[in-house]
Amino acid sequence: MTTDMVDPRSERLEMVERQIVARGIRDPLVLSAMRTVPRHEFVPEDLRDLAHDDRPLPIGHGQTISQPYIVALMTELAELRGEESVLEVGTGSGYQAAVLAEIAARVYTIEFVEPLLRAAAATLARLHYRNVVPRLGDGRLGWKEMAPFDAILVTAAPAYRIPQDLLDQLADGGRLVAPVGGEVQMLSLVRRRGRTFERRDITAVRFVPLLGAAE
Ligand code: SAH
Repeated sequence: MTTDMVDPRSERLEMVERQIVARGIRDPLVLSAMRTVPRHEFVPEDLRDLAHDDRPLPIGHGQTISQPYIVALMTELAELRGEESVLEVGTGSGYQAAVLAEIAARVYTIEFVEPLLRAAAATLARLHYRNVVPRLGDGRLGWKEMAPFDAILVTAAPAYRIPQDLLDQLADGGRLVAPVGGEVQMLSLVRRRGRTFERRDITAVRFVPLLGAAE
């Protein structure tokens, strides 16, 4: 190894301190997951030098792997303790699914674009994430057979509203985190209490749009 090759693990630990701890993420399980998952493995090879930068990165097909801080924030908002069943909409690179899988018992993740799904499934298998179940499909419909979910993370933005099927598939007491809006979106946290859905605005974000036929 030459001296100018940077160790991904030390870059990752620095990423967590500077971008995630410094911005107020406190949940020890989230910090530990962010320190563990090899983010560079989920980034296209020609962009590996940038894997730990404070930004999203292109993964092909017009899609992106989310910024590290946003992955940590959404994971913290899901309030995972270890036994949960989680649904992710928008597998993308598979990175967010891996972070969730470090904490939760099971992660179901749905991707709309087939080559992305294949690549993410291959990465997750190579890294031995056996508790992640990836599937090709329209995540706006959720995954009825596996519902209810203790947490649902939507990592692409619906323009107007959170799809009703996703709300329906949230367990009582469950948390749903989703960006909602056009070019700039509001990251929203929804908590289900029986038939009531309490919604809280978290922060402005920029995700790619949720694809599919008109909402
Ligand atoms: N969570 C990803 C980042 C996702 S980018 C990661 O960690 O890398 C958003 C992803 O949502 C893209 O891959 C896009 O193809 C996918 N997507 C868009 N609309 C979708 C839909 N209706 N159902 C499932 N996936 C969708």
